[in-house]
Amino acid sequence: MVDKPTMTTSAGAPVSDNQNSQTAGPRGPVLMQDYHLLEKLAHQNRERIPERVVHAKGWGAFGTVTITHDISKYTRAKVFAEVGKKTDVLLRFSTVAGEMGAADAERDVRGFALKFYTEEGNWDLVGNNTPVFFVRDPLKFPDFIHTQKRHPKTNLRSKTAMWDFWSQSPESLHQITTLFSDRGLPVAPMYMNGYGSHTYSFWNDAGERYWVKFHFKTLQGHKTYSNAEAEKVIGASRESYQEELFGGIERGEFPKWRVEVQIMPEMDADKTSYNPFDLTKVWPHADYPQIEVGVLELNRNAENYFAEIEQAAFSPSNVVPGIGHSPDKMLQARIFSYADAHRYRLGTHYEALPVNQPKVPVRHYHKDGAMRFMPNNPTPDAYYEPNSVGGPVEDNSVKEPPLRIVGDADRYNHRDGNDDYGQPRALWNLFDDAHKRRLYANYAAAMEGVPDAIIARQLAHFEKIHPDYAAGVSAARAELAAASGPADSISDNESAKV
Ligand code: NDP
Repeated sequence: MVDKPTMTTSAGAPVSDNQNSQTAGPRGPVLMQDYHLLEKLAHQNRERIPERVVHAKGWGAFGTVTITHDISKYTRAKVFAEVGKKTDVLLRFSTVAGEMGAADAERDVRGFALKFYTEEGNWDLVGNNTPVFFVRDPLKFPDFIHTQKRHPKTNLRSKTAMWDFWSQSPESLHQITTLFSDRGLPVAPMYMNGYGSHTYSFWNDAGERYWVKFHFKTLQGHKTYSNAEAEKVIGASRESYQEELFGGIERGEFPKWRVEVQIMPEMDADKTSYNPFDLTKVWPHADYPQIEVGVLELNRNAENYFAEIEQAAFSPSNVVPGIGHSPDKMLQARIFSYADAHRYRLGTHYEALPVNQPKVPVRHYHKDGAMRFMPNNPTPDAYYEPNSVGGPVEDNSVKEPPLRIVGDADRYNHRDGNDDYGQPRALWNLFDDAHKRRLYANYAAAMEGVPDAIIARQLAHFEKIHPDYAAGVSAARAELAAASGPADSISDNESAKV
């Protein structure tokens, strides 16, 4: 017989009966005093927390980053201090638009959020499986996300809203060319790259700053689904990513990525033909070659998905000495909005949850708030600063060098001086003819039912990438219309007036 421990209430008292409620006689109603029953029901009511508005559906695992090449001349961050150095990490992948119950194998950008538990505190690199994004100005972000979510009246997702927004936001062309290409629908998280996407900075012991881009190249190779393949997968399982990632790690198949950086000397930022802080642009490899840094491996599943993956809180605000931000407008906004999202959905002290807790002592003067359970600092008298009782103090030796800012404060038109067509063209040029045909067919499927005026506006942008691009999408639309019969005259967007 298995020796079983005694069940207790959450206050630790032994439970005498977990099968039968306390009732007034065998046929009578339950008693109010049956607190064990009340506690079970009350806890069940509180089992959900607000899901993330963006990146709600996710999969994650723990692992390590091992440094294989020395880049300590660029950064003083101890995570990169020497070859052979290993740092524990948590990686959460996600889709962007789908809710918690959405199917995994949907065409969407994937989140690629890393937490490095370094000896200088947590460093979070909260990126995607694409090197660029749909918008470059954070003022547009909530509107963009609205178009990916449900229409307020129909409660359905609206292709019209998506194309209405994209066709008026040509900075999205680079990202949508990726999204509707093969890499827009990976088979599972281990078969895709990760990118820090934003421009960050490195700074070294001499106080010199370099701009940096982070890349994580899959060592499993790229594997992607066509729309038709994904429909079959979703018909059989909505959880295909969790099955592959969790199952693979349980079987001892540990996925790996090669960690690379691109480094730009600080003053080059004034010289590049493109804005190096624009999230809709990459830095061409010919200008800034990839420098190999290390290997990322995932090798341990969470013991409790909710505690360790759902409650994992990543924020670009978390940097460590030697790593800094950049003038990237989107990054600047995310520094606020990610930490703010976690305060809302997890609570004031979300960084004290075990999965988010740094592996170094945490000493600050934030006080009280819901679920305050951290110890005093180091005495109860040290609850303000400066103090005379030995409380923690600042350390000027980790002061970041000044971030160079050029220009007067104003609301600059973010389209001025930005070429929205050249880099999407460079990407499209990488695709062979068969890949281009799949791209056009994916667009055609995603545009079904969208009003003609919106499509015309989008085709005009494709035309500027290349006339063949626009012609390819038009031909694919005609082919799809011929195969599906008369066009659906009902717009999927109640309010589309174009
Ligand atoms: P390169 O030829 O030096 O690099 C091309 C990059 O594109 C490689 O990183 C490669 O990733 C990636 N790539 C290859 N095939 C595809 C594909 N089918 N779908 C998506 N990405 C693919 O050229 P440049 O650096 O001059 O960049 C040209 C274009 O490549 C850019 O406009 C951009 O769209 C795209 N790209 C560039 C990246 C960069 O950081 N420079 C990063 C990713 C894409 P992999 O190594 O995994 O094959």
